[in-house]
Amino acid sequence: MTPDIYDVTIIGGGPAGMYSAFYSGMREMRTKIIEVKHELGGFMRTYPEKLVWDVGGIEPVRCEEIINSLIKQAMTFNPTIVFGQEIIGMEQCADNTFTLIAKTGERHHTRTIILAAGRGITKIQKLNIKGADRYELTNLHYTVTDIEKFENKRVLISGGGDSAVDWANAIAPIAKEVIVVHRREDFKAFEASVTRMKQIATSLVPYIVLHLHGNQTKIERVTLQHVETGATKQFEVDEVIINHGFQRSFFGPIMEWGFEYEEYGICVSPKMCTSIPGIFGAGDFITHPSKVRLIAGAFNDAVLAVNSAKLYLDPTEPDMAGVSSHNDRFAEKNEEMIKCLSSN
Ligand SMILES: Cc1cc2nc3c(=O)[nH]c(=O)nc-3n(C[C@H](O)[C@H](O)[C@H](O)COP(=O)(O)OP(=O)(O)OC[C@H]3O[C@@H](n4cnc5c(N)ncnc54)[C@H](O)[C@@H]3O)c2cc1C
Repeated sequence: MTPDIYDVTIIGGGPAGMYSAFYSGMREMRTKIIEVKHELGGFMRTYPEKLVWDVGGIEPVRCEEIINSLIKQAMTFNPTIVFGQEIIGMEQCADNTFTLIAKTGERHHTRTIILAAGRGITKIQKLNIKGADRYELTNLHYTVTDIEKFENKRVLISGGGDSAVDWANAIAPIAKEVIVVHRREDFKAFEASVTRMKQIATSLVPYIVLHLHGNQTKIERVTLQHVETGATKQFEVDEVIINHGFQRSFFGPIMEWGFEYEEYGICVSPKMCTSIPGIFGAGDFITHPSKVRLIAGAFNDAVLAVNSAKLYLDPTEPDMAGVSSHNDRFAEKNEEMIKCLSSN
């Protein structure tokens, strides 16, 4: 049976992967994205409530809004999206096409590959307390999606980095009380933010969260333990936020496919070509001398990677897509948009 083959398969559904999918649609390539999680968004999902200022042409907005816009844009040309599969293996076939192999055993056939796996698979560093997961649906939070939830509440935040300190500063003005617990004497966060946090919240160092006490559904009280003396303290709480960072598996199985790589990623040429012909890269997974580790940098890499994939498949094609303002690919969609705008 002939395999169902795609022109390009993108590994990773973060900003680099999503924008690659949009742009490969502009280049009329049959496109698939494979994402290990069950949603698109990539690392941006870890800071959905944060305001993002540095994406060109977008006024400061919550990151979640950028994710939603990126998803809509990525769907413009109806790529196939596969969720819940971690790609671990790759086989190169005799006709120079590739088969990608997921941990689940599924196989995906493709003419080219764009690696957009970011810094690997991100796992939130959770509290190592037995039974803590039962509170995750109620008042134990690892990410903050809605600040208003904390209005007039007693909030305990554990962590010493930017996330913990930024959330303390954002929540303290509306909360009844904010206590920030950190296992070290010094906070790692930006100095000015730490200074402000110490003015508007209570900080307790060096302490760790030892026990969560509650009924079957909600935490009601927390025991903290002094790291050096072992002395304990208890606090009544309404909400608990844990910001202990992430585990990221950057040096995963893809690194064993034979690429050249450095500390910050797989090495690519200025046109995003890896050392294996037919495999390209974009976003935080790759490195090159002018790499910009921002969402905007991921977009730029994506355009270059898709154009390289297109030329790899057919060297007679133009080296970039026609600009969107003068591109026939949008003619029908433009008519719909104009109708929609004039009816509003
Ligand atoms: C705390 C923090 C704040 C930031 N704030 C900003 C900001 O304000 N502005 C800005 O421009 N940038 C910011 N950045 C940087 C920005 O988030 C990254 O540059 C961007 O997310 C990189 O996108 P990416 O698509 O390359 O990778 P990612 O966003 O990491 O996405 C990679 C995706 O690939 C998936 N994946 C990985 N391995 C596999 C596999 N083997 N199989 C299938 N799927 C896989 C992952 O699950 C993930 O969804 C911030 C970064 C951090 C750490």
